[in-house]
Amino acid sequence: MPKTSTDNTTVASPDRRGHREVTIPGAPFVVIVEPYARSWDSPGRRVYVDNDLATDRCPELVDLIEQEDGLGDRRFAERGSLAEVDFLYDRMNRLWEEHKLAVARDALAQLDGVLDGDLTEAAAGAYFNLLAGCSACPCSPGVTAGASLFYQGQQVDLRIESRRMHRRIDGRA
Ligand SMILES: [Zn+2]
Repeated sequence: MPKTSTDNTTVASPDRRGHREVTIPGAPFVVIVEPYARSWDSPGRRVYVDNDLATDRCPELVDLIEQEDGLGDRRFAERGSLAEVDFLYDRMNRLWEEHKLAVARDALAQLDGVLDGDLTEAAAGAYFNLLAGCSACPCSPGVTAGASLFYQGQQVDLRIESRRMHRRIDGRA
């Protein structure tokens, strides 16, 4: 998968944790390629997607988050006791899933030529997984790719960060 001459995607040198930042021209995100760390109890093939990238795509999600903020103690209501609260969370979770999956698939398609592994299968088989970040409990749900991902022979996980947030943190133009 050679890079084409019009592809200005850049891969930065690794930081001290071995994380590499991939910049794709025109994309609303930067991708951090991280060595897969078994010690996190992560099952691997993880594609972490910033919340901002989902809310940027979906005004309804922004609205539902505001509604959630207004729930007060009702947010702790047991499922089945308040139909409107169940409805809100069901809709919100469906939209998180839809939009995070779409961002992950978009990023995977654009990483062809940077990462090794079956990128087509990684994108096509990607799914929203309650155990994406932790195989023990649903503390860190997210996207799991449909195939393992590699960078220079090493298995990696991906972190897709909002370029806007990234700038704010780094103070870069
Ligand atoms: Zn957990």
